[in-house]
Amino acid sequence: MSESLNPFSNAQQQLDSAAAKLGLDAATHELLRWPMQELKVTMPVKMDDGSTRIFHGFRVAHNTARGPAKGGLRWHPDETLDTVRALATWMTWKTAVVDLPLGGGKGGVICNPKALSMAEKERLARAYMRAVVRVLGSARDVPAPDVYTTPQIMAWMLDEYETLTGAKQPGVITGKPLPLGGSPGREDATGRGGVYVLREAAKAFNIDLNGATMAIQGLGNVGKYGALLAESILGLKIIAAADETGGVYNPKGLEAQKLVDHVAMHGGVAGFGDGDALTNEELFAVEATVLVPAALENVITEKNADRLRCKLCLELANGPSTPEADQILEEKGIAVIPDFLANAGGVTVSYFEQVQNAYNFYWTLKEVQTRLDEQMTQAFRGVFEMHQREQVNMRKAAYLVSVARVAEACKLRGWV
Ligand code: NAD
Repeated sequence: MSESLNPFSNAQQQLDSAAAKLGLDAATHELLRWPMQELKVTMPVKMDDGSTRIFHGFRVAHNTARGPAKGGLRWHPDETLDTVRALATWMTWKTAVVDLPLGGGKGGVICNPKALSMAEKERLARAYMRAVVRVLGSARDVPAPDVYTTPQIMAWMLDEYETLTGAKQPGVITGKPLPLGGSPGREDATGRGGVYVLREAAKAFNIDLNGATMAIQGLGNVGKYGALLAESILGLKIIAAADETGGVYNPKGLEAQKLVDHVAMHGGVAGFGDGDALTNEELFAVEATVLVPAALENVITEKNADRLRCKLCLELANGPSTPEADQILEEKGIAVIPDFLANAGGVTVSYFEQVQNAYNFYWTLKEVQTRLDEQMTQAFRGVFEMHQREQVNMRKAAYLVSVARVAEACKLRGWV
């Protein structure tokens, strides 16, 4: 992996720039550059054909000064320790930017879930939980779903955890199915939170969303609800969508629900008939009011940043833009709503889920959505104020808010 495409190097570079602006002392800066704990695990799993396959996985806690580590679990063939480190680091900034009493963590397993049966997935989920149980716990580190992991996988992991520890502890994992202590509103929370932030960003940057258009990469958990809710709450017209199977473009608009149904039935965007086929590369060059990367990291780089023709880029994926691309987007005058602010809705409702689990008392969907809106709106305003006050782009402003909060907690604990 080249340095500029190593997400952890990018995460460190982004921190370095915030640390310089904040005048962080050397010890605090060095502490925040590295995860505080890393666990690498190797798991033998029985396959349906009777063979045993060895899987490799990770669980990383970046910083826990503000509370227990919190972050998703990703199953992906290209997973690396550095990807997990980067995602754990961004979780620290994400929980801080929305002011949740949590730290940052992340997990990953190198695997291709599309090639595993349900029974193999269950055995892998349980094997992973057995391997990392010693570092998890509602007061230590709490996983949730991420790319290619689901509420069902969370349910198996919860069951394995409770079997191992002999007690009901639903707060050890979030994004659970509702009957096992999940929160109403968790499923669409990341997309919904992004749409609330987009609403505020449009007001702040004077972008008229009336008749506005949107191009989106990724229609998984995050992108699906991002598209559906941008259409239903803000009235945006989706004109382009793509994922790893292919893409579609129609300047007259694509009906979000129809598109989502097609993806559910056919496993991807490819073959959606209501427009022209388009590649992922072409998607980034589509002229649209809002561009939403909602798939994977490093999709906006120095190679394609110059071709973007949007007014606002809402980063629902984690780490979609490299630092080099960021600079180009800033020069082009594109407002970038950075990942750890734009996609913080998921962890916010995960936090609500933990609170409900702790009290064993559950909220209504309306309560969850109202609180999510308040939390996201407040977080956006805090970052926007910093952006105006310090005359820095929104990513740097979000870093200044978050890093200052985490650094203060480290100091209060006497760590630095
Ligand atoms: P998901 O597995 O539900 O969906 C992933 C999407 O990315 C799918 O549409 C898939 O087709 C697409 N994709 C995968 N590889 C691709 C490729 N090479 N080219 C184009 N598209 C590709 O995952 P998700 O939970 O929707 O996560 C998407 C992003 O959002 C990730 O960056 C994740 O870390 C981030 N995120 C997720 C949550 C959450 O609550 N699930 C919260 C915050 C951030």
